[in-house]
Amino acid sequence: MIILSLETSCDETGAAVVEKKDNEQFVRVLSNVTATSSSLHAKTGGIIPEFAAREQIKAIIPVIVRALLNSEGINNEAIKQLNNSKQFERANEILKKSIDAIAVTSGPGLIGSLLVGVETAKTLSFAFDKPIIPVHHLLAHLFANFILNTEYSILNTGKMFPFIGLIVSGGHTDLLLFESASKFKWLGGTRDDAAGEALDKVGRILGLSYPAGPEIERRANNQQPTAKFHSPLINTEDFDFSFSGLKTEISRFIVKKHLTERLINEVCHALQEAIFAVLIKKTIRAAKLYKINNILLGGGVSANQTLRQQFELTAKSQLPTAKISAPAKTYATDNAAMIGAYALLNYKPVDWHKITALPDLYFD
Ligand code: AMP
Ligand code: MG
Repeated sequence: MIILSLETSCDETGAAVVEKKDNEQFVRVLSNVTATSSSLHAKTGGIIPEFAAREQIKAIIPVIVRALLNSEGINNEAIKQLNNSKQFERANEILKKSIDAIAVTSGPGLIGSLLVGVETAKTLSFAFDKPIIPVHHLLAHLFANFILNTEYSILNTGKMFPFIGLIVSGGHTDLLLFESASKFKWLGGTRDDAAGEALDKVGRILGLSYPAGPEIERRANNQQPTAKFHSPLINTEDFDFSFSGLKTEISRFIVKKHLTERLINEVCHALQEAIFAVLIKKTIRAAKLYKINNILLGGGVSANQTLRQQFELTAKSQLPTAKISAPAKTYATDNAAMIGAYALLNYKPVDWHKITALPDLYFD
């Protein structure tokens, strides 16, 4: 089966064409296109929802056309040689002939942004008579691990289910236990800021550009541990997290200090340590408690190499049977391929007129 998938929950506009063969448990990406308006938000130090949605309205059709053409091996150089009507003609043919269904992020996310993807998907589904699958964006972050990629993937070592899934993105931090593709239990999550949000907001305090996660990772690598900060819920028995206090703790730590490069790097290092320590501790504890060996990470923060390495190290000493998987970096941050991957493993089409944008979608 081949799916065209769309992702517009936040500031990215993504379209992908993904395929799964009946006898395989992984997903192949035939094309994956992401346009981002993050440079616009870098100027404001965070996302202004209206700006994000306006950019997505402009980007969605060109992104879909490119994803469809790329999926048939027409590269971007070759696309440039075609005029607009030729591009649309080819995209139309591919959509008609090769695409079996359309998947789209229905929530959670920014309402204006979600509407761009959902209404576009509905229109395509209606016009081309294709089934449509609404996808939960957060669960899809974990299913990015089912995309065929050798690095970090445990796909080839056996079955993926059951698994403990840790979602660490810009807006969410949640821990789940998955028994099968459609059966899961929410174990806990952040009570305030998400892990990515804590990185981005402290980054802002330090004068780093948005989103700050990648720069914090670079800076942390250049610094020995000196300062130490705390994630408040590290010793509690639940699976909850709290990261909002780190902003205050760090603001106080740097007050009246001259922000040298060295001090910034030191804060970046200690911030990562504080966030990662609690993420790893509670995830491994959940795996032990429920006797589960597979741990799947997902979301933008899971692109962090240090987090992945620290997970491996802790698992080695505390749960040697554990296998850690994280998506390739392109599929860790918001992308449409993961939306298609989720739809392929959880194929549940709905009537096109029943699908709606759900900004507050939670885990039910
Ligand atoms: P998402 O919401 O899944 O698109 O992820 C975006 C979040 O991931 C933002 O908060 C980024 O700062 C964060 N992020 C992206 N790359 C990294 C990285 N290498 N290390 C830590 N956080 C990252
Ligand atoms: Mg996300």
